[in-house]
Amino acid sequence: MDHINKIEHLGIAVKDLDQANDLYEKLLGVAPYKQETVTSEAVTTSFFKVGENKIELLATTSEDGPIGKFIAKKGEGIHHIAFDVDDIELELDRLEKEGFQLINKIPKKGADNKLVAFVHPKSTNGVLIELCQDIK
Ligand code: ZN
Repeated sequence: MDHINKIEHLGIAVKDLDQANDLYEKLLGVAPYKQETVTSEAVTTSFFKVGENKIELLATTSEDGPIGKFIAKKGEGIHHIAFDVDDIELELDRLEKEGFQLINKIPKKGADNKLVAFVHPKSTNGVLIELCQDIK
């Protein structure tokens, strides 16, 4: 299917993951269901389920990592919107043909058992877009 299915999660960049976990647990009334470090992205993530939706908190493990750089430049806040797709390679191909600038032409293993790839905010009115596909 050549389209986006739904918003899979919102990614929020935070400075201190423990502090943010406590805060979002208070806010949402649920504890994170998963915490995971993705070494290749220099990031530790935690995930909350809110009904059908998910929130991903992202804290950097290194100042040079993408989240470290993002926070240095823009501060904490919404970092990306992730969309669920059935076939990530097909969607990347479609988006590239539509003129979107891909950060990852080849999907990589991300957090939460997904294949992920990012679309550059320059080509999406300033919003970093993540595509993700469940690894079955
Ligand atoms: Zn994400």
